[in-house]
Amino acid sequence: MKKKIAVLTGAGISAESGIKTFRDSGGLWEEHRIEDVASPEGWRRNPQLVLDFYNQRRRQLLQVAPNRAHYALAELESKYSVTIITQNVDDLHERAGSTQVIHLHGELLKARSVLNEHCIVPCHSDIKLGDKAPDGAQLRPHIVWFGEAVPEIENAIPKVREADIFIIIGTSLVVYPAAGLVNYARYEARKWLIDPNDTPMPLVPNLRFIQQKATVGVDMLVKQLLADV
Ligand code: NAD
Repeated sequence: MKKKIAVLTGAGISAESGIKTFRDSGGLWEEHRIEDVASPEGWRRNPQLVLDFYNQRRRQLLQVAPNRAHYALAELESKYSVTIITQNVDDLHERAGSTQVIHLHGELLKARSVLNEHCIVPCHSDIKLGDKAPDGAQLRPHIVWFGEAVPEIENAIPKVREADIFIIIGTSLVVYPAAGLVNYARYEARKWLIDPNDTPMPLVPNLRFIQQKATVGVDMLVKQLLADV
């Protein structure tokens, strides 16, 4: 039976594809305050601003491509059972070929009804005020905003618990409940964290730190893991 790998990724894995992280931008997201563009209050205050923001993010996403780190993780599937748990709203893991991806914070290429979080439709172009979901209500981005529930965490927890190998890549681990996932890793699991910066290490036993950019660090680790089997 294939060994199980769970991978928790954050904005850092997509940085070398040209999508900015929060940290790069001093806690702002593309020059915007998080509470203005990624909260239910922001949506109530100024839905046009929120739609414009995600419309820009979506347009940018359609112009970038996965990088070596996304592709390397997809290659792991040849010898391991791999689940990617991502905080990213981009689709770069899927485009690189990963087949099991849990999006904790939603997906830019989907939209949903403001009244029903289960009424979701594909979305590859701008969302405008007046655009309706199948239930007749206004469409909004299918993004989990700060202060909203994170239903996919229930699917992510068992994947981390069952993993023989747990890899954390490019996340500052400050956004909960995603950051709390690290505490579900088994003591015996082999665990790595990959980040180019002196990021605060979570209190996880036997966690090894690879201080490299994702394209370098993930490629190195994946080569090693593929050679192990
Ligand atoms: P963060 O910006 O808080 O932290 C990014 C981390 O990536 C930092 O630790 C940084 O040192 C590291 N990093 C920078 N360059 C890297 C590289 N080349 N290789 C590897 N690591 C690198 O991001 P976060 O922890 O993911 O939390 C931010 C929240 O913002 C998430 O909830 C996410 O939904 C959202 N977000 C998503 C995207 C995206 O979808 N691509 C982009 C920005 C923000």
